[in-house]
Amino acid sequence: MLDLVIRDGRIVTESNVFDGSIGIQNGKITQISATIGESANRVVDAGGKLVLPGLIDGHTHMEMPFMGTVSSDDFYQGTVAAACGGVTTIVDFAVQPRGETILNTYKTWRQKADPKVCVDYGLHMIIRDFNTTNLAQIRPLIGEGVTSFKLFMAYKKELYLDDGAIYSIMEEAVRHGGIIGLHCENADLIECFAAKLLSEGKVKAEYHAKSRPPLVEAESVQRGIRLAEMSGSPMYVVHMSTGLARDEIKEAADKGLPVYSETCPHYLTFTEEAYRQPNGNRYIMSPPLRSDEDRAKLWQGLASGFIKTVASDHVCFNSKQKNQSDFTKVPNGVIGTEVILPILYSAGVAKGIIPLTRLVQVTSYNPAKLFGLYPRKGSIAVGSDADIVLLDPHKKVRLSLDNLHSNIDYSIYEDVSVTGYPIMTISRGEIIHEDGKFIGRRGRGEFVKGKPFQTKRPDL
Ligand SMILES: [Zn+2]
Repeated sequence: MLDLVIRDGRIVTESNVFDGSIGIQNGKITQISATIGESANRVVDAGGKLVLPGLIDGHTHMEMPFMGTVSSDDFYQGTVAAACGGVTTIVDFAVQPRGETILNTYKTWRQKADPKVCVDYGLHMIIRDFNTTNLAQIRPLIGEGVTSFKLFMAYKKELYLDDGAIYSIMEEAVRHGGIIGLHCENADLIECFAAKLLSEGKVKAEYHAKSRPPLVEAESVQRGIRLAEMSGSPMYVVHMSTGLARDEIKEAADKGLPVYSETCPHYLTFTEEAYRQPNGNRYIMSPPLRSDEDRAKLWQGLASGFIKTVASDHVCFNSKQKNQSDFTKVPNGVIGTEVILPILYSAGVAKGIIPLTRLVQVTSYNPAKLFGLYPRKGSIAVGSDADIVLLDPHKKVRLSLDNLHSNIDYSIYEDVSVTGYPIMTISRGEIIHEDGKFIGRRGRGEFVKGKPFQTKRPDL
């Protein structure tokens, strides 16, 4: 007797699309075949639906202390939103407070997340105090299952590290099978440009983009690539937003360097025109929204397969938090975890830009490989966790406040309608979301340890 059977769906993996059924027992996938005769406690008819691996959103910031405030989705509400968008694992960022060690930071984040998370989760560690104590803790932290370290070239007063610190952390992380995530924007140039704009009285949201032009990202990406090359460390460029950065990364990858990149649903959907709207402040995130041409280049990068992941950079703030006197004071960040799948399906797959297998690669298989979660996560395979999302390719949904689940009072996607929407999310064999309703339990999610790389690079 099986716990659950998903019958007669169109199953999509990172390399295949085929019709079949999936048998699930004790939270694991135990059978995949054309038909399953064995009886089950529950049978879900997936006729006419796509059956995909649950998404791994490799970039979220739940209840994140940032720019003098805290992001408004906590680990409960943020993972309810994730679940309703077909995400079954998030990899969130633990932020090292100044003066604290990274091992203690890890424990604090576990204590925050464990009682609240509704989907499984892993952690990246943001290091902002560079010293010998923290350097020595990289190895034990990898032993705890935190294999990825995020470092910032931007946010001078908040999170910034200099190149020497970045290089040293890369060198130590690669020695123990870790990977470096890098926020690539040149902090000095941003400070210089922003100060000039403010002195000219240019305070509106549109100047946020002007203070961080595309070359500011491309310069940092190029410097990051050099640091990765010198240290021998694999590097993952988070939230890549421009065609210029894309070209730098492609060139490095073509040379055989272990350099990978991620982009986000907002860069694939909006352009900097959004900043000119009355509520332009709500679209402030960093890097900023870009031109139509940049957006097209990101889609091309996904189509050709060298942009490896799409993750949300989910960090949301309500309208009061976003309403500030000038663009430098607006907390950076937007929602995203719930819209990754609908945006990629509707604007990507349905339009013939990316195939279904690529959708699975960039949302599940690749992040599982990069963050050491494969093969437990990242595919539909016998023995893997039964993390599955059912998508109705014909369901039309407007990504409005009413249909989304984050704890904020507006949706930047209010005017975006999609065709193709997740209608059921299964996490370790348990149905936790059905037709827009979260039906799982608070705190049911588990911490998933990342495994360090055995070689100096992820096999992707
Ligand atoms: Zn982020």
